[in-house]
Amino acid sequence: MIYRSTRNANETASASEAILKGLAENGGLFVPDEIPALNISLDEVAKMSYQEVAYEVMKLMFTDFTEEELKYCINSAYDEKFDTKLIAPVVKHHNANYIELFHGKTIAFKDMALSILPYLLTTSAKKNNIKNDIVILTATSGDTGKAALAGFADVPGTKIAVFYPKNGVSPIQEKQMVTEKGKNTFVAGITSNFDDAQTGVKKMFQDKALEEYLDSKGFQFSSANSINIGRLVPQMVYYVYSYTRLVADGTIKAGDKVNIVVPTGNFGNILAAYYASIMCLPVNKFICASNDNKVLYDFFTTGTYDKNRDFILTTSPSMDILISSNLERLIYHIAGNDAAKNAELMKSLNTTGKYEITADMKERLTSFYGGYATEAEVAEQIKKVYNEDGYIMDTHTAVASKVYDKYREETNDDTVTIIASTASPYKFTRSVLTAIDPEYDSKGDFELVDELAKLSGVKVPNAVEEIRNADIIHNTVCDKEDMEKVVKKFLGVE
Ligand SMILES: *Cc1c(COP(=O)(O)O)cnc(C)c1O
Repeated sequence: MIYRSTRNANETASASEAILKGLAENGGLFVPDEIPALNISLDEVAKMSYQEVAYEVMKLMFTDFTEEELKYCINSAYDEKFDTKLIAPVVKHHNANYIELFHGKTIAFKDMALSILPYLLTTSAKKNNIKNDIVILTATSGDTGKAALAGFADVPGTKIAVFYPKNGVSPIQEKQMVTEKGKNTFVAGITSNFDDAQTGVKKMFQDKALEEYLDSKGFQFSSANSINIGRLVPQMVYYVYSYTRLVADGTIKAGDKVNIVVPTGNFGNILAAYYASIMCLPVNKFICASNDNKVLYDFFTTGTYDKNRDFILTTSPSMDILISSNLERLIYHIAGNDAAKNAELMKSLNTTGKYEITADMKERLTSFYGGYATEAEVAEQIKKVYNEDGYIMDTHTAVASKVYDKYREETNDDTVTIIASTASPYKFTRSVLTAIDPEYDSKGDFELVDELAKLSGVKVPNAVEEIRNADIIHNTVCDKEDMEKVVKKFLGVE
């Protein structure tokens, strides 16, 4: 399998090279030339464990890994770190099937990919005779940060630096990151928003002089952001897994179409669903759910992507994004895998903050539906579903749940639907509980944790217990202009 840059048809990489590089030259993203069809039936997959499904999917996408290497990566990632043997259970509530992607170490869906990425990356380094230490550079809107830190903490041959918007993540998210104990970790808050953090990280990746300098010191950058193909591919797995669980429990027959609803920020999770559909899943609609930062909703309804608007801080911070990096991959595909056309649109995004796709391209988007939920709607939805059957969902999942309700009302489409449940409510306790009853707002963060346990009957996850009394280890705060400086300081190469 060849991976190719979305911005330059001549730049290619093997899977392991693409995983190591993270990003292609000039800001391009690596995409597979074609996605092969699954070579076993969905009925067979329905009998497999999560790890077995992972192997069947990943072996088709990471073709330069041996069976032994891939199974080592999969089995190291999806083990007792998860609090259920199912890894990603599918539960039925409110007319839909929620696949809970938050049973890993940091109780958010980012764990699904970031548990395996360190193994994919260190295996890729070995395969490519890399001697440098790999430095993971990550911008996070909240959840990626801790999931990446947890994945890479104390992994030999790696270091990791994480930047987050100082005032743009939840208190629990921040505490999770700044208490990280891994000796090879660095965390800094930046004084502006996520997009600035992401832009700063991208700038460092593209800086040739910096690359040479670090190489001379025995370091090289790689990315744990959702632009890395080593994150995207593991995310395809749970869509295949969730679909086949519905086959196994008789909800659908293999071959039936389903809708997939994804609460979307950087467009990685929903793109993985799209890739999974090309590989094997019959999908009716991909429902892309946004919060008040509804740049994607506007894109799917008008064909124009326009990030020139106010950035809104919401109760679903991991979706507070105006530049959805992974959308570029979809743009490239609907342009007919045309790197030149894609590069032209991305240049326009860079210079004017917007671009418009052609009528032909728009026609290829008919399986996508964009929707959004306002802050008031998100809160109402959490309360409504809780009142129905006691299920408490987090704010991001509630965005998806509400958008799905609106979709059904609008279309009367009653196709069986899978909703990606992307975080545990324990990660956003205050927003979740005050949605149910505003009185909760007077309580402290950890009091709320105990209240949520009472109300939901779900045990407090380890990820929350362990930060209750943890010491703050990382207290760097910097301006976006100083990101390179603090990274060099962390590496001891000022
Ligand atoms: C990252 C994240 C999202 C958005 O996922 P993308 O792949 O960036 O679209 C949604 N919900 C939660 C809880 C997340 O952490």
